Amino acid sequence: MNPELHSPYLVAIIGAGPAGLYAAHKLADHGVRVVLFNRDVKPGGLAEYGIYPDKLKMKGGLRKQFHHILSSPLIDYYGNITVCAGGNITIFDLLSAGFQALLVATGAQGTKWLGLDGEYPRGVYHAKDLVYHYNRLPPYASKSYPIGQRVALVGVGNVMMDVAHWLVREVKVKEVIAVARRGPLEMKYGKEEAKAVAANFDLAKLDADLERLGPMMTSLDQDPAMAREFFTAPLAKALAPVSDTRFRFEFLAAPKRILGEQGYVTGLEVEDNMLTCDGSEARPRGLGTFRRLEVDTVVFCIGDTVDNDFCLSTRNNEYVKVPTPRFPVDGTSYEALDPELNRPFENIFLVGWARQASIGLVGVARHDGENGAEAVLGYLHTLPPLADAEELLREFDQEFERFNPLAVRKEQLKCLEATELAEAQRHGVEDFKFTTNEAMLSVMGFTAVVE
Ligand SMILES: Cc1cc2nc3c(=O)[nH]c(=O)nc-3n(C[C@H](O)[C@H](O)[C@H](O)COP(=O)(O)OP(=O)(O)OC[C@H]3O[C@@H](n4cnc5c(N)ncnc54)[C@H](O)[C@@H]3O)c2cc1C
Repeated sequence: MNPELHSPYLVAIIGAGPAGLYAAHKLADHGVRVVLFNRDVKPGGLAEYGIYPDKLKMKGGLRKQFHHILSSPLIDYYGNITVCAGGNITIFDLLSAGFQALLVATGAQGTKWLGLDGEYPRGVYHAKDLVYHYNRLPPYASKSYPIGQRVALVGVGNVMMDVAHWLVREVKVKEVIAVARRGPLEMKYGKEEAKAVAANFDLAKLDADLERLGPMMTSLDQDPAMAREFFTAPLAKALAPVSDTRFRFEFLAAPKRILGEQGYVTGLEVEDNMLTCDGSEARPRGLGTFRRLEVDTVVFCIGDTVDNDFCLSTRNNEYVKVPTPRFPVDGTSYEALDPELNRPFENIFLVGWARQASIGLVGVARHDGENGAEAVLGYLHTLPPLADAEELLREFDQEFERFNPLAVRKEQLKCLEATELAEAQRHGVEDFKFTTNEAMLSVMGFTAVVE
């Protein structure tokens, strides 16, 4: 706590991913005192633990920006702290402690399932778990996720491509099948994301599919040649192959049932779809015929939901927002609704993937965080300024420290980062991460407490 600071407003941000960090930056720029509470020891959210590990330049650039943000004397950081009932502290505790507004930037931590028939045997995963695993986020880093030889990836977005990348280049399975409900022209990933798997792509299968689906596509004014161009463009920049994995798509296939025997996946049953044209959009329609994909692992890459265990109510996988906000920004509501009383939580705001789950890249989360901060500023300006935010924080910190001795401050993060850098050099790797919270806490000097 810095007695030199004279900020009239005090805000808690829950979640230090891109949305929370950029929101903190904007609030601090306007003289607001901010405290970030983050579940993970390290800041960055999915920028640290989601973006594919080999995108070192992008990750490094973002880390630098986050360092800069956290270096502001107006911003405090408590890592290794989960805010929710049953966690370290609740949003209601924070409000009672004197934080004038809360900005929820917790991302999309809930798991979305399709609700398919059948059991969920071993070998069925959600992409988020695998992504956290290979990005070495505790506790996922040290859990085991057995992968078979033939893997169905349900979904055709960027996250599917990242998981395919891992399966093709790291796990080196025999076959990866991306299952698409729609046709070849309805992919949701960026071409650039396909270069890691392009050399393993089964072009002959694509050509056979395009020939078979050509008449239907043409009847919908879709150009099969354009689809071929989309799938083959990444070949020009393809990384050299490191496995014999066959990577292919299964178009117009709606997953219906996971087949299992003795607790293990033995296949994925899909229903054949056709496309119909609904205005400008091609929509899938089930044909009532079914087939079986011979796979032993199924990974859902269908986006995430917000965390149902957090203290806010959800509707349609998202926290409920005020439909007619008091502080809209660009026509968007950043305000959380209390559905029980059907009125706004007047001091709780939402940003990033916590506001709209699984939408957009880091740039979108940044923009959303900054806009949400603007909404919070609008609200703060309706309040009387605080007499002494620092005194309030000092009292909060003393009490908080008593109950949360393993909270990680930004000074301690520096020590962790220096040690990880030294470990990277020692191991001759570009990036090194400790894979358990205990190891991280230990190098930051929490040894006695951890033991
Ligand atoms: C697999 C994958 C790959 C991606 N690759 C790219 C890419 O290459 N380029 C790109 O630009 N974007 C990429 N993105 C998108 C980008 O990561 C997101 O747009 C962005 O991280 C969303 O930011 P956020 O702050 O809303 O949420 P998150 O990044 O999820 O951050 C949420 C933060 O909240 C914390 N938190 C959660 N619950 C609590 C709680 N109860 N209490 C306290 N803290 C909590 C978490 O610890 C985390 O730090 C990728 C996303 C995924 C899933």
